[in-house]
Amino acid sequence: MQTRKIGFIGLGNMGAPMAANLAKAGCAVTGFDTAVTAAEGVTMAETAAAAAKGADVVITMLPNGQILRAVAAEVLPAMAEGTLLLDCSTVEVESARAVADLASARGILCVDAPVSGGIGGAAAGTLTFMAGGSEAGFRTAEPLFEIMGQKAVHCGGPGAGQAAKICNNMILGATMIATCEAFALADKLGLDRQKMFDVVSTSSGYSWSMNAYCPAPGIGPQSPADNGYQPGFAAELMLKDLGLSQQAAEAVDADTPMGARAFELYRRFVEEEDGRGKDFSAMLPRFATRRRE
Ligand code: NAD
Repeated sequence: MQTRKIGFIGLGNMGAPMAANLAKAGCAVTGFDTAVTAAEGVTMAETAAAAAKGADVVITMLPNGQILRAVAAEVLPAMAEGTLLLDCSTVEVESARAVADLASARGILCVDAPVSGGIGGAAAGTLTFMAGGSEAGFRTAEPLFEIMGQKAVHCGGPGAGQAAKICNNMILGATMIATCEAFALADKLGLDRQKMFDVVSTSSGYSWSMNAYCPAPGIGPQSPADNGYQPGFAAELMLKDLGLSQQAAEAVDADTPMGARAFELYRRFVEEEDGRGKDFSAMLPRFATRRRE
């Protein structure tokens, strides 16, 4: 790939390793973050607009939609027509579409491409990107997806990447809870956890939560449960994504009772039950110590 000039805004847990991988692959990366952060091979700028100026592609990896909108309003005027704004943050579908409209009014391509794969995937360059935007935008982003990830799916028009991400994570939140409550029930029925895994992981109750990320320590492949439930994927990040799913469901009048219940359980876990900072699979010890409500 020809050397590209990239502006990278938001060099946190995810952004810093992603930007470092782009630099390692030969891109000229200029970064900006409001906090004191750094990424290997990345030159830091004084402002977001300065990082965006002269860039072929500006990538954002920010905490939420409100911040994304503010950053987009600042960087888009600094970007040239025909360049690409590639947002990899997880935000509401509505913010993704609003930013795409702002970009389009200036003749700038825009793709929303939230990721799956976490901090480990960001460091290893094995993220999965779920992309929404025009064909031209997706094609422009593709070589960068190849550097930062292992798979990119073009899901549809603006906001489609965010829609795919929150639907996936709504399923994940609900199946993790179902897996954890079933383990806790099995415990109380005197069923050995290994036997439970052996049966469910090869039966119709199987899921990614059970088979690939088993919440029971010492069982199944290596997972955060084997490391004292250190994240991994923190419970508060799951709560954020479940909140986005419920916001979206309300906006389009969709009935999502399991998603709503999963949101409420993770909200209680994070805000009232000491779940903050723990992996989202720490729902298992939570259920294991509870009685029927
Ligand atoms: P983070 O909080 O570590 O990083 C966000 C960075 O943005 C911080 O360094 C912060 O200082 C910076 N920032 C905030 N406001 C800014 C502004 N106005 N201008 C420039 N920089 C600003 O968060 P993260 O874990 O890197 O997550 C980033 C995004 O990726 C989030 O939307 C998150 O939901 C999503 N995500 C995270 C994970 C994960 O495992 N951490 C997995 C998938 C998706």
